[in-house]
Amino acid sequence: VTFREYELNEEIIRALDALKYEVPTEVQRKVIPVALRRQDLIVKSQTGSGKTASFGIPVCELVDWAENKPQALILTPTRELAAQVKEDITNIGRFKRIKAVALVGKSPFAPQKIELTQKTHVVVGTPGRVFDHIERGSLPLNRLQYLVIDEADEMLSMGFIEQIEKIIKRLPKERVTMLFSATLPEAVKNLCRKYMNAPEDIEI
Ligand code: AMP
Repeated sequence: VTFREYELNEEIIRALDALKYEVPTEVQRKVIPVALRRQDLIVKSQTGSGKTASFGIPVCELVDWAENKPQALILTPTRELAAQVKEDITNIGRFKRIKAVALVGKSPFAPQKIELTQKTHVVVGTPGRVFDHIERGSLPLNRLQYLVIDEADEMLSMGFIEQIEKIIKRLPKERVTMLFSATLPEAVKNLCRKYMNAPEDIEI
């Protein structure tokens, strides 16, 4: 299998070539086709398996470049992971000129707010800071169509589940939700039951 078989935009294929991603990893083979048909997903998989690109490729493919407001929100448990995911999205979306913004704590709020006034396709952030932006009106959500919850079990250990629920309640109901986790504790399964629509279970 090559990436060509997913009928991705030529700009995405070119970026994958530049990144030297030749063949999809197992998680990518399982996730990309399902995500591209906009089905909700629960993915049990370890880090280091290529999972970032498994959601990054469909997200970059599906967002509409011409739309100025954020269309995808990716929540991560740590600032470091948010920075890494933002970089991966930027690389995959390079030739499509996808603009990703990171919203993380311990960084000044004002520059993030200014960035959000410019064209933004994808927001990557930690739950606390993302919710701050929502509360303070700097993160428009009416165009949001894709939600990714990365490392959900880490989110749980760090006490972020309630914060994530508060965020989800503000999002449009009509959206695609993808959740990634190394393990699926009961609280994570509950979150899936409450906020996902007939998710496909994928285990790597
Ligand atoms: P991740 O599990 O998302 O942290 O990815 C692990 C590493 O694999 C990262 O350095 C990626 O750049 C790399 N990677 C992801 N997908 C592919 C692929 N299809 N071919 C080669 N390398 C990849």
